[in-house]
Amino acid sequence: MNIQCPCGSGRRCAVCCGAIHSGVREARTAEALMRSRYSAYVLRLEAYLLASWHPDTRPLILALQDDKTQWLGLTIRGVKAGGPGDESGTVSFTARYRVGRERHQLAETSRFVRQGGRWVYLDGSVSQGGEASSHNASTPAPPR
Ligand SMILES: [Zn+2]
Repeated sequence: MNIQCPCGSGRRCAVCCGAIHSGVREARTAEALMRSRYSAYVLRLEAYLLASWHPDTRPLILALQDDKTQWLGLTIRGVKAGGPGDESGTVSFTARYRVGRERHQLAETSRFVRQGGRWVYLDGSVSQGGEASSHNASTPAPPR
């Protein structure tokens, strides 16, 4: 793949998240795993998303092929721990997306833990908005 990585790193996907998706290398940090999971949502890589999810919180299936969400961009807001020498960490991020003509953004703080030496996604808390329960389609895009 010669495309730019969806995670916004500015690197080619093949040497960024793509290398993690294909198992060429592992995510060394929680942030790297977070980025690779965002890219996996963009690329609809259900198997990778499930494999990088903690078994206690992992859903049975992900039906991304029918998902109308179009991911527009990822911004990492903050990272706590989650480094090569850590056993856990959190990553706060904003992900912009569109469903049809409606633009949204999701602000979440995700928790990651190391399991068997690999980083996995544990869970996340939405830190503002509450888009998941909101049916207000006219939310304007925030000023830039
Ligand atoms: Zn990437």
